[in-house]
Amino acid sequence: MSEYFFDYIKELIPESEVLKDEPMNKHTTFRVGGPAKYFIKPANQEELEKLIKYLNLVEREHFILGNGSNLLVGDHGYDGVMIWIGNGFNEIKVNGDVITAGAGAMLSKVASTALEHGLTGLEFASGIPGSVGGAMVMNAGAYGGEMKDIVTEVDAVAPDGEFIRYSNAEMAFGYRTSICRRAKIVVTAATFKLKKGNPEDIKAKMDELKAQRLAKQPLQFPSAGSTFKRPEGYFAGKLIMDAGLSGYTIGGAKVSEKHCGFVINAGNASAADVHDVIFEVQEKVKERFGVKLEPEVCMIGEF
Ligand SMILES: Cc1cc2nc3c(=O)[nH]c(=O)nc-3n(C[C@H](O)[C@H](O)[C@H](O)COP(=O)(O)OP(=O)(O)OC[C@H]3O[C@@H](n4cnc5c(N)ncnc54)[C@H](O)[C@@H]3O)c2cc1C
Repeated sequence: MSEYFFDYIKELIPESEVLKDEPMNKHTTFRVGGPAKYFIKPANQEELEKLIKYLNLVEREHFILGNGSNLLVGDHGYDGVMIWIGNGFNEIKVNGDVITAGAGAMLSKVASTALEHGLTGLEFASGIPGSVGGAMVMNAGAYGGEMKDIVTEVDAVAPDGEFIRYSNAEMAFGYRTSICRRAKIVVTAATFKLKKGNPEDIKAKMDELKAQRLAKQPLQFPSAGSTFKRPEGYFAGKLIMDAGLSGYTIGGAKVSEKHCGFVINAGNASAADVHDVIFEVQEKVKERFGVKLEPEVCMIGEF
């Protein structure tokens, strides 16, 4: 990538917010991944719109990063432009039973804000370690709830840099997907319609779900949560366990014995180790049960 590109980007975004060769293990919950050629932190809507318009105009490869909790970046890094939707987009506003949150706000923070205001509906999401933007893209869900149940509007930036507002129907939410995964749009905010509830009940529900996560998930190890999508009619973790893959290890990556649906970084894993475990699990489960496991985790860069 030319210095000309860098010089131009500095016209759009303050130089201090444009990092070069930024290690992605600092920005993913797997704690693996080589450097992103450029790592840009737009501070507001205006900077983001100009940046997206320019990158699409010059057809420069780019990737939108939230909290990196569903992302595996290769050891040899990402040779494009990583755009972090973070601190510049983390405002949370409450108006009656409606919450509007910036895409960079953490779901846990939005859920705790709902609790503070006695609003129910977000309890299921309180333990999902992602940003609001990532949750819209993935239609994040847990314990019977999904983003599609509570989201009324999503604000975004289109590839031409224009602001767009999607309704719930226009988001075309599906299982761990939404229109954002198909159209290249950048989520900047989401509006949630909740209901008045009893703060004690809301807190009790959050505590109960937290205890379930702690009991069932290997949260002491870096991971991206459930590695695979749930195949229709099956549970990925059960198939993996029944294929005898509990504890299956390559290098530092491993199928968790506590929950076989999680591939974990058990200590100094490389991204290639994680990638290889995912691949081998897919092969072995297909061979044994004829079921194709599809990764839920997004993979980018050179392994
Ligand atoms: C311990 C653990 C438990 C988990 N439990 C759950 C669970 O119960 N349910 C569940 O659904 N998930 C779970 N996850 C996975 C993950 O937290 C969710 O998928 C989350 O929604 C990802 O959000 P993120 O901000 O981290 O996205 P990232 O990992 O940063 O990105 C994921 C995808 O979203 C895109 N993206 C992110 N932000 C934006 C944006 N602003 N605009 C456009 N695209 C964007 C990225 O380009 C990428 O394609 C878990 C993960 C971990 C580590």
